Amino acid sequence: MAYCLLCMSGMWHEKATLPIEKGGMALNNAVYVSLTAFACSIAASMKELAKVFPDWIKIGSDGKLVNVVCHKSPDVTDQIVDFANEYRLLAPQGPFKEGDDLLAVMKSIEAIGTRRGATTVQGVLYSYLIEEEANRLLETVKRKANETRDHTSYAKVKWRNWFSLMNLDSGAWLTAGLSSKLFVMSNDEFISAVCRRNTVQDPRVPKYTSALSRESYDLFQCGCDGGAQPKAIDPFGYHLVGCKIGANAIRLHDQVVVLVAKLFRSLRLEAIVEPIRLFAEVSPNSENQRPDILIRNPRGFGRSIILDVAITGIDGQSRPTEEFPDRHLQVRYDQKIAKYGHLADRSGFQLIPAVFSHTGQIHTAFKDFIREQIRQKIVAFESQAKSSKIKSVLKYSSLVWGQFVTQTVIFHLFGISKYSYHTS
Ligand SMILES: [Zn+2]
Repeated sequence: MAYCLLCMSGMWHEKATLPIEKGGMALNNAVYVSLTAFACSIAASMKELAKVFPDWIKIGSDGKLVNVVCHKSPDVTDQIVDFANEYRLLAPQGPFKEGDDLLAVMKSIEAIGTRRGATTVQGVLYSYLIEEEANRLLETVKRKANETRDHTSYAKVKWRNWFSLMNLDSGAWLTAGLSSKLFVMSNDEFISAVCRRNTVQDPRVPKYTSALSRESYDLFQCGCDGGAQPKAIDPFGYHLVGCKIGANAIRLHDQVVVLVAKLFRSLRLEAIVEPIRLFAEVSPNSENQRPDILIRNPRGFGRSIILDVAITGIDGQSRPTEEFPDRHLQVRYDQKIAKYGHLADRSGFQLIPAVFSHTGQIHTAFKDFIREQIRQKIVAFESQAKSSKIKSVLKYSSLVWGQFVTQTVIFHLFGISKYSYHTS
């Protein structure tokens, strides 16, 4: 990806090392790992070293470090003090203070060791660095986004996409591990999904090149919203996910409905897709209203549930903001409730809108419902619900979701020769 925008600013590598819930890919930052390696390995072998070199390192009877004589090994001293200084510059909120000598540094590391949880001492030091890195990158992206008022600028798109990824759902597919053959991504699908996650140009998305300007710029704009305001086809693949040309958006919606129904059937519930005449009694004129899914007698509910699936982009009127990254989901949820909630209620059903976003966010109401149904199923069939099991089922559904979005883009790319993209 020699020509990607983020590569040039160097940010894409760094962003990939952030945790999943911060919008990263949870890859290791080798620079940070190696920075902390030496001091941590010395700390880990302190007790053994003290046995061999008692005049260098002294350990008390309680097993704690008492003293390290600096001049006994000046090389080690220099390297560790230098490390602490470098670390402090990168992560001022970390454990090291200005002017710390070798003993102070080693004691700080020892202190982390006694109160750490599941992770290693190096893991704790590493997490301070990554936390600081996340803040720094966010500031940079935010500043670039604020420099322009144009809502379709790449800087704004990148910013908006990032904070709609800052949650556990959107990236859960990255950690799903081995899955059923049916859901294995092809290389192209994986590249597309990663490009969209990181706002990196997707090599498969056609782009306008002025140097080869035999093509008109109009060809790279899309009139799917009625044409009044042609939309630019961004090089990251976001527009192609939600584009309405060639029934693309409807296809995505229908696939998600089928997927969601499958998910509930795998929980051994009766899920009926597009049931008819549900509201006939209450509203005789409702023949055209067919909700997406009816779940008959879900466990733990007095009433049957109607699910209505909605998929929202992140560039609409209700686009996510810094304070409300889920605003677009909530707006769609409220619309659905206002439209069908009353009708469903009077017909004896409970309506739960299942709202997703193109970046894989899932509205809490649906998430709570599915989590509860997974729990109930495990209780019913295996007598005890394990939270790890619930998590793994949720991860699995995120993987499937990520892939549907990608396939939609791929489908769309194949459709390009069939449907012209100009505004007329
Ligand atoms: Zn379009």
